[in-house]
Amino acid sequence: MMFEGAIQDLIDELGRLPGVGPKGAQRIAFYLLAAEPVDVERFAATLRRVKDEVRFCRICGNVTETDECRICRDPRRDPSVICVVEEPKDVLAVERTREFRGRYHVLGGAISPIDGVGPDDLRVRELMTRLADGTITELILATDPNLEGEATATYLSRLVKPMGLIVTRLASGLPVGGDLEYADEVTLGRAFSGRRQVD
Ligand SMILES: [Zn+2]
Repeated sequence: MMFEGAIQDLIDELGRLPGVGPKGAQRIAFYLLAAEPVDVERFAATLRRVKDEVRFCRICGNVTETDECRICRDPRRDPSVICVVEEPKDVLAVERTREFRGRYHVLGGAISPIDGVGPDDLRVRELMTRLADGTITELILATDPNLEGEATATYLSRLVKPMGLIVTRLASGLPVGGDLEYADEVTLGRAFSGRRQVD
């Protein structure tokens, strides 16, 4: 069954969002229809602000509303260690463990030949630029524990090996095939402190 006009448009828009099925889209649409105008207005304004104000950190690729993100600006963070992750949400996952005091590099995805994603589609060149001046001594590859994440880690470790820095990979124990963000803090924290050198 289809509704008409704006309500159906809204259901269609919501249905395109990740993790929202047709039933969920309908539920959210009717929830918004019944909500107070002021609440819906705030929601709409937030959507617009996200596109207008949020951008990616010039240095690490994390989300930020300024040129450089909070972590890159923080002088207390160790500039000699970089943790490479796929997405900004992974930065949050690692931060929650409180095991890491270095900086990050967000790739913006993982190598996936099936989806047509290669190194040039990720922020690999930016990473190499950061490594060039010799400040960074350790690179922690914290890509997701799945096929694409492993392929990306292998690619990067081979790429940076000639630069002579320590390259580590998170210890096993993470749920295989999943996303970094799905690991609980304790498990991820343990994987972090038990990281092993890639040879
Ligand atoms: Zn940053």
